[in-house]
Amino acid sequence: MYNRVRDIVLLGSTGSIGTQTLDICKAQDIKPVALCANCNTRLLEQQAREFSPKAVCVGDDRYYSDIKQRLSDTDIKVLSGVEGLCEIAAIPCDMVVNAVVGMIGLRPTLKAIESGNRVALANKETLVTGGEIVTALAKEKQLPIIPIDSEHSAIFQSLMGNRGNAIEKILLTASGGPFYGYTREQLKTVTKTQALNHPNWTMGNKITIDSATMMNKGLELIEAVWLFDVPPEKIEILIHRQSILHSAVEFEDGAIIGQMGVPDMHIPIAFALSYPGRFTSDKKKLSLSEIGTLTFGKPDYDTFVCLSAAKKAIKQGGTACTVLNSANETAVGLFLQDKIPFYKIGELVISALSDVEHNIKPTLDNILDTEKATREYILSRI
Ligand code: MG
Repeated sequence: MYNRVRDIVLLGSTGSIGTQTLDICKAQDIKPVALCANCNTRLLEQQAREFSPKAVCVGDDRYYSDIKQRLSDTDIKVLSGVEGLCEIAAIPCDMVVNAVVGMIGLRPTLKAIESGNRVALANKETLVTGGEIVTALAKEKQLPIIPIDSEHSAIFQSLMGNRGNAIEKILLTASGGPFYGYTREQLKTVTKTQALNHPNWTMGNKITIDSATMMNKGLELIEAVWLFDVPPEKIEILIHRQSILHSAVEFEDGAIIGQMGVPDMHIPIAFALSYPGRFTSDKKKLSLSEIGTLTFGKPDYDTFVCLSAAKKAIKQGGTACTVLNSANETAVGLFLQDKIPFYKIGELVISALSDVEHNIKPTLDNILDTEKATREYILSRI
């Protein structure tokens, strides 16, 4: 049994999950011993002054001198790049919360586990690209990986007290995003503003676009395969527009156990920090009588091609998921910079999956090489 978390290393402190994690740290008297942002040095400085961590890091090396200058009157250690991220992930602490965006999160996750730190994971790409090596290392070190993604937190919570009974099926819920019910034709003319307007959740830009293409659910399917050691055929994606049932597990006797709550990331973040206990919360709680109706349906795999691509990638295994993820990450970046239209994201992902070489039993180097090759492939196609 674990004790309550007293101190954390927070990777991705200026993003949506990061700032909410710091709210919880303040409320629960948890000390962030190190903070890391990608490039938002103004907010990182503010956080560093408020929480006085031992070290801060910027993921993007170009912002090193800026943050160094901003904190020059303090004795906070300043680091940068993936090396810096890995260094702070290894600081002994009760938990490393990894909430960075993108594949840059993989090496720090491995470093944290290698160093014997428990990891709470909001960085999907870590498991999508490195699922096999990350889960093997965590097993070897006998450390749990605690999911922060709301669906996986729900599955994790649904499995508490399960005592090893086999999982018949995982029910992975999806809101359907802002373009639910659209045809492929309609997706050709959607704008960035529409894509960034999620009906239920407030999140960072990358994940909001992934929700609009439904790639987010595809990445979550892959994440669930690794976290819960179930084959992809045993995961059913359910469209649930209200985002109240955050996911569920069906057992062999037909019983389904799920977790419900308001769609607010504070709940899964706080749970990761309080596990196996729970913190009290003064936030608005779920009123099922106010909600009235919960609906469930099947996803449209023909229109949301990213979802079908993710299913294909996890069946292929190995670095196919890295190709999928890297192609998507690059294409979403291009869409956010107005360089490609929305529907092109799916097209580029599909062509990368068939054209970029991938292998079956990857090492960390294979994964990083595949990531780079895929990024170059996508950039060469526009
Ligand atoms: Mg999610």
